[in-house]
Amino acid sequence: MSAPDLFVRLPSGKSPLIPVPSRTYHTPMTRPPWPYDREFKCHRCGNCCRGDGYVDMTESDIARAAQVLAMTRQEFLLAYCQYGSDGYILRDQEDEEQSCIFLTNDDGLAGCRIHEAKPEQCATFPFGWRPRNVMQFCEGMRAVARLPKPARSSMTPKK
Ligand code: SF4
Repeated sequence: MSAPDLFVRLPSGKSPLIPVPSRTYHTPMTRPPWPYDREFKCHRCGNCCRGDGYVDMTESDIARAAQVLAMTRQEFLLAYCQYGSDGYILRDQEDEEQSCIFLTNDDGLAGCRIHEAKPEQCATFPFGWRPRNVMQFCEGMRAVARLPKPARSSMTPKK
């Protein structure tokens, strides 16, 4: 792991370097205090809902999502999940960006079809956990750090 993976610069005037928690999508993490949290606002860029990575679905996640969609557990699993190495995960849409099956495009802003029953993994990002490359893709985190938008920026508004 290289230093740039582990450290990010704070906005000027604050202490120089702080460690960014290292976490894979499967490693539980005790969240250390992070000064960015107070200022963070989600920009709905959708970058956490696209690309590499996947959403683990606990039994509780499955039950809540199925209820919101008025489906049985079995119907929900067949329509939206696949079996990963450790259990059920959400499928992606069949697009080039590997979008989450529930990601919507609300005139260029990311939305979630099961927002009221969001899986725990999604609901706790980025405060409860975050991958170590979060500053590469999260527009909200980068704004707090006074960094320009990430390379893959907001979703394209529909025409
Ligand atoms: S990547 Fe960050 S700013 Fe973008 S939608 Fe996810 S939480 Fe919000």
